[in-house]
Amino acid sequence: MRAERESSPIASQAALVGTPEAAPFTQNVTDSDLLFLPPNLEAELLRHALLNQRPLLVVNFLAACGFTYLAWTELGIAVGAWLVLMALISSLRWTAGMTLYRSQLRRERRWGWSDAIALRVFYAGYVASPFAWAAMVVWAIPLLEPFTLLALIVVLAALVGGATGVLAPLRYLGQVNMFLLLVPGSFRLLSLDPPQWILALLGVVFAGVAMISHRFNNDLLRRALTLQHRNDFLLQRVSESNAAILEANAELESRVEARTIELRELSQRDLLTGLLNRRGLVDLLRHFDERQTPLAVLFIDLNGFKQVNDGLGHEAGDEVLRIAARQLATAVPMDASIGRWGGDEFVLIWPARVATEALISLGHHLRTALAVPILVGDERVQLGATIGYAIRGANETGAELVTAADLATAEARRNDQGGIAGFEPGLAVVQQRRLQIVGGLRTAVDDQSLWLAYQPIVFAGSDKLHSLEALMRWTSPRLGVVGPDEFIAIAEDSDRIQQLGDWALRRALADCLAAGAEGPPQICVNVSIRQLAWDGFYASVVAALSELGFAPERLVLEVTESVFEDRNSHRTLSALRALANLGVRIHVDDFGSGYSSLGSLHNFPLHAIKIDRIFVERLDTQSRSVIEAAVLIARGHGLEVIAEGIETAEQARVLHDLGVDALQGYYFGRPQPALLSPRR
Ligand code: C2E
Ligand code: CA
Ligand code: CA
Repeated sequence: MRAERESSPIASQAALVGTPEAAPFTQNVTDSDLLFLPPNLEAELLRHALLNQRPLLVVNFLAACGFTYLAWTELGIAVGAWLVLMALISSLRWTAGMTLYRSQLRRERRWGWSDAIALRVFYAGYVASPFAWAAMVVWAIPLLEPFTLLALIVVLAALVGGATGVLAPLRYLGQVNMFLLLVPGSFRLLSLDPPQWILALLGVVFAGVAMISHRFNNDLLRRALTLQHRNDFLLQRVSESNAAILEANAELESRVEARTIELRELSQRDLLTGLLNRRGLVDLLRHFDERQTPLAVLFIDLNGFKQVNDGLGHEAGDEVLRIAARQLATAVPMDASIGRWGGDEFVLIWPARVATEALISLGHHLRTALAVPILVGDERVQLGATIGYAIRGANETGAELVTAADLATAEARRNDQGGIAGFEPGLAVVQQRRLQIVGGLRTAVDDQSLWLAYQPIVFAGSDKLHSLEALMRWTSPRLGVVGPDEFIAIAEDSDRIQQLGDWALRRALADCLAAGAEGPPQICVNVSIRQLAWDGFYASVVAALSELGFAPERLVLEVTESVFEDRNSHRTLSALRALANLGVRIHVDDFGSGYSSLGSLHNFPLHAIKIDRIFVERLDTQSRSVIEAAVLIARGHGLEVIAEGIETAEQARVLHDLGVDALQGYYFGRPQPALLSPRR
């Protein structure tokens, strides 16, 4: 179909339009595709001829009318008949032209058989009209008065002159036309008496000049049309390639857009757990802020994750986080979303009007889901979670709710109210102070606002100095005196404790050395569990001892009972063993106050236990038997027993009777800013 359009119609059109003068009547035009051909010079010439035809016909007919009027007296009715013939030819030509005009130029319909006939009539007209003129002229010339003859010559010359331009599209028919209009008449002038040689010659020369000029015009028109086509073609090519570029651009744009969406999605996902990440959560909160949706936020902080990470390594930690995330996801309400806020913290966003009870029960649900033990390699890990929640009241933003829920989490951790707490406005004040303390501790070593107090420990019965315990003190330039119970807990939470602990150790050793012979036999330094779990702890102690030249046997590290906890055992145990091998002594502080898992006591390289103050405070029968049991256990393991918090002579006597080896308390001396001997 396509190939047909490209080959045969061109051929037939070339025959139809391009060479009509050669064989205008032999072509059997049935092709209906003329209109739909690609731009073609001959077709274009035909269009121009069509456009010129109507003015041409009008001028031609008016000329015939004028001649008829002038020659009426000489020629009579015969010229009238000629005019009728001329009118007939003109109207036929007009009709044919209009038919072609409608299909070719106005494109009102497709090419049909009537066009094929019209095309023949159209071309024939260019011969018929001048032929009619020629016949009339040849017949009439001898009969005309000189004036009428002159008028006729002028009319014909005018018609030929006009034809050079108007017939320019028709190369051969135009020439035939001019030839017929002038040449037969010119020769007829020779038959007059006397023969009009000059006029005849002028007529033939004029005809020749007109024909040459017509040919020239035809060439010009062809060249102009070719150029125009080339121009159009180039324009089309340009607009086509423009369209291609635009299309490619649009395609590129849509791909970039799709990729952007993908990237945004990715940037909102946590790679480890597949949950939303902090950014995704923030975006979601902002979304709910814009719509002012009722909102509740839960802040979920895993318990015991740090120990997993420290004890089993980061890969195990990652695995535990992945599984914990999955466990949490199973417990999330349908219309809520959960994401990882960072580290081992998760945030749940619940865009609903929820009651406090519903949030607490969701919190329990989440904690239950997390309580399912996780197997990592051979290790069985059981996580817990501390959860804080906050509900949108008036117009808090989502981000503010997360901060509030985070505060509530910290509160829940401190108060141990079943691991779940709601936000209360007072918490903001607490948090404010925490932040101030964290900030202050950062510079506490450098601005020398930290210092140590020393409290004596004496041998029971003899009051001889057993050792001194170094206790950290902080007088913050901004907050004044901050108690160790407060700032040490915060230092532990923020990992500042490593730096503070190292400072305390070095300062205690240095003070001890500075006291020379006046110094205590032993110096006790407190070490928190966070310090022990730290990789560099052993090295830092060894470095302090060797740099200061301190005998390891004079150093006591007081560690709390929580070192017996399973999770902490591995790393802390090896650090403590290594230190004990150096000769450093290890005392268990606050014995009996918390974890009573004494099963692993023998695993630890211990030298003494320090019975917690609360047993000394109320020395009733119950605590008395606890102390008795502790003494028994200690004896079994070959450990020394120390009691702290002794405020009266009576307490000192009872404890001595129970078999306690050494005593510490206000009765013997309060913590002092300098190394001092015991009161007595
Ligand atoms: P701790 O290790 O149990 O220290 C003994 C605490 O009991 C000290 O409180 C001491 O002042 C207090 N105390 C001593 N005798 C008596 C008494 O007769 N009656 C009463 N009521 N209290 C007495 P302090 O100095 O407030 O220390 C509190 C806790 O802070 C310490 O408890 C220890 O856990 C921690 N801490 C202090 N200094 C350091 C340190 O350098 N490093 C670490 N990691 N923790 C420290
Ligand atoms: Ca202590
Ligand atoms: Ca203690």
